[in-house]
Amino acid sequence: ASYRRIAETDERVQAFLTLNEEGAREQASLTDGRIAQGEAVDILAGVPAGIKDNIVTEGLRTTCASRFLDNYKPIYDGTVSRKLRDAQVVTIGKLNMDEFAMGGSNENSAFKSTRNPWDLERVPGGSSGGSAAAVAAGQVSFALGSDTGGSIRQPASYCGVVGLKPTYGLVSRFGLVAFASSLDQIGPLTRSVEDAAHVLQAIAGYDKMDSTSADVSIPDYAEALTGDVKGLRIGVPKEYIGQGVDPKVKEAVLAALNVFESLGATWEEVSMPHTDYAVATYYLLASSEASSNLARFDGVRYGVRADNPDNLLQLYHESRSQGFGPEVKRRIMLGTYALSSGYYDAYYLKAQKVRTLIKQDFDEAFNQYDILLGPTAPTTAFRLGEQIDDPLAMYLNDILTIPVSLAGVPAISIPCGLADGLPVGLQLIGKAFQETTVLRAAHAFE
Ligand code: GLN
Repeated sequence: ASYRRIAETDERVQAFLTLNEEGAREQASLTDGRIAQGEAVDILAGVPAGIKDNIVTEGLRTTCASRFLDNYKPIYDGTVSRKLRDAQVVTIGKLNMDEFAMGGSNENSAFKSTRNPWDLERVPGGSSGGSAAAVAAGQVSFALGSDTGGSIRQPASYCGVVGLKPTYGLVSRFGLVAFASSLDQIGPLTRSVEDAAHVLQAIAGYDKMDSTSADVSIPDYAEALTGDVKGLRIGVPKEYIGQGVDPKVKEAVLAALNVFESLGATWEEVSMPHTDYAVATYYLLASSEASSNLARFDGVRYGVRADNPDNLLQLYHESRSQGFGPEVKRRIMLGTYALSSGYYDAYYLKAQKVRTLIKQDFDEAFNQYDILLGPTAPTTAFRLGEQIDDPLAMYLNDILTIPVSLAGVPAISIPCGLADGLPVGLQLIGKAFQETTVLRAAHAFE
């Protein structure tokens, strides 16, 4: 049914980069066999899913939507890919994204631009745009995405699906092609909060292969969905509903607050004074980390290799010039500059200090509130081509998701109505490792 749906819709939506039809049929019939024999199987067994193309899958092409990795077939599974395999999830294929997860519209993919299923003239968001669009178009039951500064939550918001960015360290990054290692997190895109709880259950947990993996006990996430939010204290950062937020988006978010009130929660405005610095801080830190992480793409070990270079330096130079797209080059240049001697203190170190101030805003707010709430993005999905020539405008779409990433705390985007026929996303933010509270609140609202 999944492949039939893809055949019917993907010529228009363009969510998939690679299909795994043979492998998926094998996996599905294996699971069918087990069920026929009365074996107990995981709740996700036999469920069709898609995986963002920056998560490595054994034997299945993994491109990061980059020319550099056009023909890269990993010889191993990332931890989350292996966990899905162990749960007998059926991997339908690999999903489009902005190249190396840099972008917010999918227009930075080297291969194609995924469309928003709600309006094919609009972007699905990014960088996990293929993941969000595939779920929204009913091609798969869930998808995995990755979120560095909003790449799960913003596309979930634009496509009217649920997207969860877990606490930094909760889900292993082993086998996630690194963009900005201190920010990257893998998480689910689903049609419901309950589905998100089940997928998180399958992928969360300590992994010795990831040195930043957190050794915490994993609760039963589905059990947390009690429907009860009586007494829940909600803080609404006034900076998140101020200037730049589309009035119709704001209206939908305020209406959501009424729903929470009717369910017995309380809310107040709170100030997060360092919000204004988040975008600048993020683009310095993320680009710095990217410039270092992407040094491994040198034409020697993976992917593109330039023909007939005269010497080693030329091999690097030519391979990287041919393999990377313009946005990736821009980030490498920015990051290399910010890290270079003489500028390091003024840019990179300063940004690290501001990151701490932003994290303190969250610590202080969470002394008073259980949950912070606001829009996921300032607007609904924009038109293809509308922002691609203006990187700064593109970067500003992340203004409401980036502070959360810098603080490392969990957040979910859930649909909260329509503005001019397009989905609006509501963002619920929790304390570190309090995914249960975030999911419980989101589920009660849904
Ligand atoms: N849009 C942001 C960026 O381009 C976020 C990307 C992400 O979360 N991977 O960096």
